[in-house]
Amino acid sequence: GPTLVLFRNDLRIADNAALYHAAEAASPVLPVFVLDEESDGVRPRGGASRWWLHHSVAALEKQLDRLGARLAVRRGRMTEVVDDLIAETGASCVFWNRRYDPGGIASDTAMKCSLRQRGLHAESFEGHLLHEPSRLKNGSGSYYKVFTPFWKTLSSGPEPRDPVDAPSSLHGWEGKVDALRIDDVLPLPTAPDWAGGLRENWSPGEHGAHERLEAFLEDGLDDYGEGRDFPARPATSRLSPHLAHGEITPYQIFAALRDGRGKAGSADVATFRKEVGWREFCHHLLFHNPELHRKNFQPSFDTFAWVSDDKALRRWQKGLTGYPIVDAGMRELWQTGAMHNRVRMIAASLLTKHLLIDWREGERWFWDTLVDADPASNPANWQWVAGSGADAAPYFRIFNPVLQGEKFDPKGDYVRQFVPELAKLPNRYLHKPWEAPKDVLAKAGMELGKTYPPPVVDHGRARDRALAAYQAMKDEA
Ligand code: FAD
Repeated sequence: GPTLVLFRNDLRIADNAALYHAAEAASPVLPVFVLDEESDGVRPRGGASRWWLHHSVAALEKQLDRLGARLAVRRGRMTEVVDDLIAETGASCVFWNRRYDPGGIASDTAMKCSLRQRGLHAESFEGHLLHEPSRLKNGSGSYYKVFTPFWKTLSSGPEPRDPVDAPSSLHGWEGKVDALRIDDVLPLPTAPDWAGGLRENWSPGEHGAHERLEAFLEDGLDDYGEGRDFPARPATSRLSPHLAHGEITPYQIFAALRDGRGKAGSADVATFRKEVGWREFCHHLLFHNPELHRKNFQPSFDTFAWVSDDKALRRWQKGLTGYPIVDAGMRELWQTGAMHNRVRMIAASLLTKHLLIDWREGERWFWDTLVDADPASNPANWQWVAGSGADAAPYFRIFNPVLQGEKFDPKGDYVRQFVPELAKLPNRYLHKPWEAPKDVLAKAGMELGKTYPPPVVDHGRARDRALAAYQAMKDEA
């Protein structure tokens, strides 16, 4: 029988230890993609990442074809799908790369036990993270709850290993297996087709991931340290959805940085490595807090008086809060499946602090609309902004959306791109249209409350209300 190689969140052929070792073995290889949304603890993907997944699996299928192996696409509980395939093909080996989300861990652990009990060869490999969350401990033998010492330990250790080569060819399994079509498992949106902006902005798949990395090293990284906070500048890598789907690994990224390709200085490289470190930290937190998207990391927040306000929530989701930088971000998200990191922080802060809406509402919206929606990075960052998270900034530092906009989008290029109804407003009023005199608004073709909404809340009042809510929570503790 064949060796089964399972693909889940590792949709690549290079630096894929499971595939590499299967290719070295004597038996033919049967690669399998399994969409498992049923196993306990698995979080079904949102719309934007399903769109990505469709294209990424299609790209993987082509690559494997070229190497000589046909990808079998299946849907269902991981353990049941694998048992069925073993029964159908007589496979005696199953290889996979480890996952670190709670549902993935539970399902893969159960699968390993059950296969080994039956005398089958089951083996898992690493590749998704630079560290094994179960092994990295702080000085007192516990896990890290603060980023700085976490990253100090990880980055002062040995350099991450070199990536594993892609197999040059595969001895594919020739037998017949039932398989589904990608279109059936992951249908693309049709009516309405909301994916136009996604198609325009992204090239899912391993090839697209490496093109992105090369482009970033060539032109981006050398401005990273300073430019990364300015949403109108193409200074960040935009690798997050490729990383989230495992089309590229942090090992490959670090190896490319070591090669010194591109023209960036060491400070930019160090800052970039550190950001990739945040991804590691989020996974570290999720491993030790499997309910990170449901439960406050700091239990004191369990008594926080969140406000339920559907109308405000909808204005935020649609990018109609009246704060231009936030609205630009929310519309960028809806149109392109992504949002610049600085703007994510401002938009999340507006929802959780100005509107006092529970961070879980925002997390859920991002989960559905982000192409990089990640079970670790999304809840960890949401909790960080809301104040309930690990290593969160002091609560009283509440972003002022006007000052943030003026500082990080000083020429307004970002706002003008995503909020076209503000395009003609002079820079002076672009981030606070409600302060513009009537004639200035009229000249820009605007009428506040008609062409663009007034602010959903007043910043000063909202700030006081948030601080009072925080104080009340502390008094209760
Ligand atoms: P770059 O600046 O080029 O960074 C390189 C890589 O480092 C990224 O691709 C990403 O993998 C990692 N990284 C950078 N910043 C962070 C961070 N703060 N936390 C974790 N990893 C980071 N990122 C996701 O990948 N998935 C999410 O679901 C997600 N949700 C977020 C929600 C909120 C409220 C906030 C504030 C941030 C969230 N982030 C998330 C983190 C960050 O915004 C994105 O990783 C980043 O914008 C991706 O753009 P980039 O690839 O150009 O980043």
